[in-house]
Amino acid sequence: MGDDRFVIIGGGPAGIAAAISTINAGFPPGRITLLEKGDRNDPSRTSGFGGAGANSDGKLVLESAIGGELKTWVGERIEGLLEDVLDLYLDFLAPSERPAYEKMRGRFSDPAAGARIQQACIRAGLEYIPADIIPLGTTACRRVVDGWYDFLIERGAQVLLNTRVTGFAQGNGGWSVTSESGETLRARWLLAAPGRSGHAFLVRALAENGIPTVNGPIDVGVRVETDAQLTRPLTDATWEFKLRGLIEGSHVRTFCVCPEGSVLVERYDEDLLAVNGQTLPEHPTGRTNFAVLHTIYLDDPCDNPAQFAQAYIRTANILGARNAIVQTWPKFAERRRSRASDLRDSFITPTLASALPGDIRLALNAKSCSVIEAFMRALDGPGLLEGLCSNRTLLYAPEAKFYTVRPAQLSAELESERPELFFAGDGSGITRGLVQASASGIVVGREVARRAQ
Ligand SMILES: Cc1cc2nc3c(=O)[nH]c(=O)nc-3n(C[C@H](O)[C@H](O)[C@H](O)COP(=O)(O)OP(=O)(O)OC[C@H]3O[C@@H](n4cnc5c(N)ncnc54)[C@H](O)[C@@H]3O)c2cc1C
Repeated sequence: MGDDRFVIIGGGPAGIAAAISTINAGFPPGRITLLEKGDRNDPSRTSGFGGAGANSDGKLVLESAIGGELKTWVGERIEGLLEDVLDLYLDFLAPSERPAYEKMRGRFSDPAAGARIQQACIRAGLEYIPADIIPLGTTACRRVVDGWYDFLIERGAQVLLNTRVTGFAQGNGGWSVTSESGETLRARWLLAAPGRSGHAFLVRALAENGIPTVNGPIDVGVRVETDAQLTRPLTDATWEFKLRGLIEGSHVRTFCVCPEGSVLVERYDEDLLAVNGQTLPEHPTGRTNFAVLHTIYLDDPCDNPAQFAQAYIRTANILGARNAIVQTWPKFAERRRSRASDLRDSFITPTLASALPGDIRLALNAKSCSVIEAFMRALDGPGLLEGLCSNRTLLYAPEAKFYTVRPAQLSAELESERPELFFAGDGSGITRGLVQASASGIVVGREVARRAQ
């Protein structure tokens, strides 16, 4: 028989939320083991305690339609879960800070401002998705993650850092989990929450266990950086403007808006490097950056769409000699590579100083380039981001999100077809953001605590 341990693979928001909510529901903390391949403060930005969340921009998007598909499994329970997630974050800040963040609720989903933006979107052939957002920012989010760590350690949960899980298998009434060092842990309940950086591991583990999977979409695109002044009509009203287009039959959207932010590099396994963004409210930069992502659905016979996104990242990394690529909008539109002289002539300097001037079209597929170019022109419409398609705008690559292969069958408690094996978070394609990743962890954590009683 497996012992009565709850083992969690992945120390991101999903895994941590599972551990904390299990404890809060009465499960003995000493029977929880959380395995994380990264360190406490990991330089990768995608691994380590807190996962990608530890270095995230901390925008809490409290909408069931944004940041994942969790509602598919949990149904109407999602609304209550979003509130529970808010507590999970705000409870770990100083009590005096809470009112200021709570006050932000609704501020960025003001119906009057939303109606104005929607009208402008209709004229531009786009769609605006209003969202209730609390922008914690990178620094506060980091403090929350530190608070989560202290909570788990003080309660006596086992947090094993620098421990990469290589596989798991069912047997003797439980699960065995093997790590890179060759050690094997026994678990009664197992949660796989390895995030996007653990996606390749998950694909392999699912195949090894013969668990049927389905393909999800991938997102490839660019990160756009422009003058914060230019985006103010939207960022002042909504902070994170979520705009969508349907161009050449493809879905394209803005994602992860960072007002007064900077572009940064994130690292994945196999030495892959991509771009992302963050806002440090205490260090305004005068720039706004956001992703423009083209969603691609790859069905049969493609059985691992993540490889398509990784091929883009790999090609861009070759072109940039393991640096991000930056290109001015005019050169992108002219289909010519940017050189250092173009950056000098540009009206803004890149916030990611290590990015090298280059040609994004050499790495990104032609369809995505065409869709993104048309979407950018639509964004540059009256009442939206007027002036965007100009020498005030830079594009960075590679920007890609791959949360693709997921178990074909999951219960309302996110349990797979194999008893006591649960999935949560971005790695298994259930979620795409902090709030829903955390919510999915809460679902599993509470269920494990319930079964243990
Ligand atoms: C720079 C940046 C900014 C972001 N900003 C926002 C934002 O403002 N708002 C928002 O909603 N979302 C944001 N996101 C996305 C958000 O961080 C993710 O959606 C969220 O962290 C997903 O949580 P998760 O627990 O599923 O996965 P992750 O956070 O990716 O955590 C998974 C963990 O599992 C570990 N792991 C992987 N494989 C293994 C293995 N084999 N063995 C052991 N451990 C393993 C990883 O090291 C990682 O620490 C941002 C992401 C980045 C990178």
